[in-house]
Amino acid sequence: AQAEGGRLSRFYTPELNGQLLEQFQLEQALRHGLEHDELLLYYQPRVDIRSGEILSLEALVRWNHPDWGLIEPGRFIPLAESTGLILELGPVVLKAACKQIKAWQASGVPVVPIAVNLSAKELYQDALSAKIEEIMADASVDPQQLEIEITESATMHSVNKAVEILSSLRSLGLALAMDDFGTGHASLSYLNQLPMQTIKIDRSFLVKIDVHTEEPAQQGATIVKAIIGLGLNLGLKIIAEGVETLPQRDFLIEHGCDVAQGHLFSLPLPADKIEPLLRAGS
Ligand code: C2E
Ligand code: CA
Ligand code: CA
Ligand code: CA
Repeated sequence: AQAEGGRLSRFYTPELNGQLLEQFQLEQALRHGLEHDELLLYYQPRVDIRSGEILSLEALVRWNHPDWGLIEPGRFIPLAESTGLILELGPVVLKAACKQIKAWQASGVPVVPIAVNLSAKELYQDALSAKIEEIMADASVDPQQLEIEITESATMHSVNKAVEILSSLRSLGLALAMDDFGTGHASLSYLNQLPMQTIKIDRSFLVKIDVHTEEPAQQGATIVKAIIGLGLNLGLKIIAEGVETLPQRDFLIEHGCDVAQGHLFSLPLPADKIEPLLRAGS
């Protein structure tokens, strides 16, 4: 057994100190960035898997730091969640999406609905639907022009609460998608209870359907088939995420998934790069 001093020194290592300091600096910088308009949205098309037509877009936040450059959400969303800053970031993202819709409408761009991601912390905050309603009203954006993506695991923190909150979002007229489906172990009866219109098949399963000879490949294919079957049976729309290859696309078509998102079709792009695609329809 280790002495008390030994334990302490195990916790207060210079490395851990460095990490904490780095986290703290990152938090301060993000706070500053939120106040100084450093966050912006990229958009990834969700396409008709056969024609490539753009059906909707997913808004994916980026942080354009003056010194560090463009930072991916994987670097700061977890921190925003653990510090509560996500409650400030969420409205910034939603407002930016609304503003983009209005800007495109004003310049005659054929607009498609924009899906916005919501973290668990945001989902369970007080008066969420009133806040979203207010943002939409201020921007005069119709709920039909937006969609909310919530991860499967976020809905599972508290099932009854989630049903209640999602129902209130739904009654605002917002479409709801369950993100990263298949990774959160939601039970079937529970899935049926949630007022979702769409499920998004997590990329991790798609990755595994490419190499048809390997064991994991078989598992991936089985899971993707099962999710598509389940979704179709429940009358849900299905979006496959992270489609990168033609074999993946062909597999999805063969098994009845009509909508996809992924590098095969388009990377997430800034608004000015998305605009010509919307004008062209794909
Ligand atoms: P997500 O919602 O599951 O978003 C999909 C992620 O997969 C995006 O990463 C997207 O760029 C990436 N992706 C799309 N197609 C492909 C592909 O074919 N191959 C590969 N390898 N990746 C692909 P991104 O933009 O880095 O976002 C990461 C995560 O950060 C998102 O995962 C989401 O959980 C979170 N996030 C992004 N924007 C927001 C936001 O505005 N609010 C909140 N709360 N979370 C956000
Ligand atoms: Ca998402
Ligand atoms: Ca996802
Ligand atoms: Ca994900």
